[in-house]
Amino acid sequence: MKILFATPECAPYVKTGGLGDVSAALPAKLAALGHDVRVLLPAYQGMQVSGEVGQSIDILPYAQWPAAELLPVKVESGVTLLLLACPALYQRPGGPYVDAHGRDHPDNALRFGMLSRVAALLGTVHSPVPGWTADVVHANDWPCGLAPLYLAQTRILAPHQRTAGSVVTIHNLAFQGVFPMDCAEQVGVSSLFRGVEGVEFWGQMSMLKAGLQFAQAITTVSPTYAREIQTLEHGVGFDGILRARASRLHGILNGIDTQLWSPATDPLLPYHFRAANLRGKASCKAALQGRMGLPGDRDALLLAMVSRLTPQKGVDLVLSALPRILASGAQLVVLGNGEPWLQDALTEAARSHPKQVAVKLGFDEGLAHLIEAGADAFLMPSRFEPCGLNQMYSQAYGTVPLVAPVGGLLDSVTDADADPAQGTGFIMRACDAAGLEEAFARLLQAWAKPARWRRIQAQGMARDFGWEASALQYLEVYRRAALETGAASGTSLP
Ligand code: ADP
Repeated sequence: MKILFATPECAPYVKTGGLGDVSAALPAKLAALGHDVRVLLPAYQGMQVSGEVGQSIDILPYAQWPAAELLPVKVESGVTLLLLACPALYQRPGGPYVDAHGRDHPDNALRFGMLSRVAALLGTVHSPVPGWTADVVHANDWPCGLAPLYLAQTRILAPHQRTAGSVVTIHNLAFQGVFPMDCAEQVGVSSLFRGVEGVEFWGQMSMLKAGLQFAQAITTVSPTYAREIQTLEHGVGFDGILRARASRLHGILNGIDTQLWSPATDPLLPYHFRAANLRGKASCKAALQGRMGLPGDRDALLLAMVSRLTPQKGVDLVLSALPRILASGAQLVVLGNGEPWLQDALTEAARSHPKQVAVKLGFDEGLAHLIEAGADAFLMPSRFEPCGLNQMYSQAYGTVPLVAPVGGLLDSVTDADADPAQGTGFIMRACDAAGLEEAFARLLQAWAKPARWRRIQAQGMARDFGWEASALQYLEVYRRAALETGAASGTSLP
């Protein structure tokens, strides 16, 4: 199958969160299963990509939009990246979504309208890549949300032309790509689609909504989150649409890239280990304590967090529970960046308790790996969590996760008290500070019994979080989407 995977971020070139990891691992797995996968990604400033570079391809300008071209690069995983080069939109300081000061780029509607439009074009007879038209366009998150809408517009204008089926994936429903309705004209949303049945969301335009309305299938990154987002509590205003389209909504749990995240081979680790022999893990713990400036105490329970610092991730709950954590004698390391008030509170905690708390602000891939390897337990008290990757990395690295009872955390962690024979971590009973303290008390009881702790570690390390099973589920969703638009059979719509 010819698959176009459109994404605003892809590890290791550009990553702000889990979507970056998924955009690297899922296409690679699909390619390994024999499919022809192209990953469409903006060419941001400073991005370094090595591989076999093809001929650049001009994209015919649309309306008043700036000129753009596609640069194909075949990378090691067997995937072809299609780098969307448009210097006026993507060559600038900052990240994919925000400038160097953390403010949204003012022209994000156009930046991601462009990404979506090119994604859609690649699924039509006007595909700019010679001889290649996608059977399915997989649009990830709001930045690609307009792609299914553009394909739907093409089908209206040219009903006899073959167009790709489209699939939209929600990696986090909280990010909805909302812009003033004036932007709809600029990004070429037909007036037919500007109403509530189209992109309109409380008087504005939501790019994510475009995807939810017009894709043949909607997926999200865990089965539990797929159910949660259909409720008022977790639907962030979209629960109605998602209930209406429930028959097309699928929860497919993310996997982890075992090439990058495996404690026996991880190139970013100073020492390696396997479940049968955890000496290397103890050495990683000592290295981590040293790097973070904490006392090198082998027996202290070392807790960790690697996270965007936002209320979503329950960082404030950890701060509320900190007195209890410190009273137990545990150490805590935190790596993250995000909201200033949380950064300040964590920095202050580290200043007040230098022997027990260490904080590194910033994004540091190497340190994230060392933390997963060196910590004893990992805290993820998220208020909501579409999938979450760190709890899976933790289990693979023999680091016992303590998680909130939500989303993908519930789908990937088994409570060690509720199910001693299979338990891999501790699940909070409620998403609040008391729930965190209660689960922490249970975790401490297990820590006090080394044989029990070893068993929980071993059960986590034995889990298979590889991508294969999930990739097969995506293929089934793609196949049905492509059949629906007539793309898969190669025939046109009547
Ligand atoms: P989300 O996508 O909501 O941020 P996930 O758990 O799905 O959360 O994925 C987060 C990914 O980003 C993980 O791979 C995690 O290790 C990584 N990450 C988050 N913050 C940092 C950081 N400050 N430094 C390095 N890696 C980070």
